[in-house]
Amino acid sequence: MSLEQQLDTDFSRRENWALRRQQQLPNNRRLWICACMDERLPVDDCLGIRADHGDAHLFRNAGGLITEDAIRSAMLSCNFFGTTEIVIINHTECGMMSYRQDTAVDALTERYGDLDKIDVDPFLGPRLTLDPHAFGDWIRLFDDVDEVCAQQIELLRQHPLIPKQVTVSGWIYEVETGHLRPPHRHIGKQVNTSRQMRAK
Ligand SMILES: [Zn+2]
Repeated sequence: MSLEQQLDTDFSRRENWALRRQQQLPNNRRLWICACMDERLPVDDCLGIRADHGDAHLFRNAGGLITEDAIRSAMLSCNFFGTTEIVIINHTECGMMSYRQDTAVDALTERYGDLDKIDVDPFLGPRLTLDPHAFGDWIRLFDDVDEVCAQQIELLRQHPLIPKQVTVSGWIYEVETGHLRPPHRHIGKQVNTSRQMRAK
């Protein structure tokens, strides 16, 4: 290959990378991921992909929860950017399980005053407001990661802005083992027990 051909190939590669959205090209895996922001959740490693090198659109927030901004992002990814699969990742020992809702609301009220007067979206301001006393629900603390994961899957599957043909799955990353499992399925609870043998 001549140097000219080599440089031309390299330029074309960078051009295709930069102009992906203009050319209406999807990400490599046609994948949208919603994951908790937690620093112990290595999204690329546990999925075996490279989300930040073209494989997926990666959305992270506290808990890996389907919030209004998650819906906004997934809706854009699926309807306009070619995404056909959604993967949700929650994880064990999530910080969202370490406070009770009323404790958090009390602490924030003490610090910032009446929470109902605060715009949760500073751009939309009063155009997007919560009902009175809904601030605690907006924080979305939870106490059972399996239930929450199953719930997030259903929230997306049932949402009118997510196309029905998009597949949605949810997984729990165990920070203690470094592996993913489906909600409500624990290998650790099935091994080293004679319960099944006794049942026979
Ligand atoms: Zn978390």
